[in-house]
Amino acid sequence: MPSTRSGGCLCGKVRYEASDAPVLSIQCYCRDCQHISGGGHAPQFAVKRDTVSRSGPLKTFHLKSDAGNDLEFGFCGECGSPIYKTTTLAPELVFFFAGSLDDPATFTLETKVYEDRRQPWDES
Ligand SMILES: [Zn+2]
Ligand SMILES: [Zn+2]
Repeated sequence: MPSTRSGGCLCGKVRYEASDAPVLSIQCYCRDCQHISGGGHAPQFAVKRDTVSRSGPLKTFHLKSDAGNDLEFGFCGECGSPIYKTTTLAPELVFFFAGSLDDPATFTLETKVYEDRRQPWDES
């Protein structure tokens, strides 16, 4: 599997690349991830922040999590696609949403989190 991960948004203006392999891959069922994905959960992988380059019209949105840490969500200012999330719980990491990958098949799910928030209609 190639260690570099690249991706972007629906309209193609936002691009990112991570030069190292993911350190973590999760599928999160929390309410924030339901909102940000527009679905039942958000598959995402974390890479070290210092391996990441980003370009394009990224916009950010900030939120305090239930646990009290600060979250930043990055999305395309043109088409609105969710791209990444950061948290002050792990400031050295950037979590990219798996659906933004150029090749989403390279995503391998390791752990499901907040499964107690899973919606009854979400079967994956
Ligand atoms: Zn876009
Ligand atoms: Zn979540």
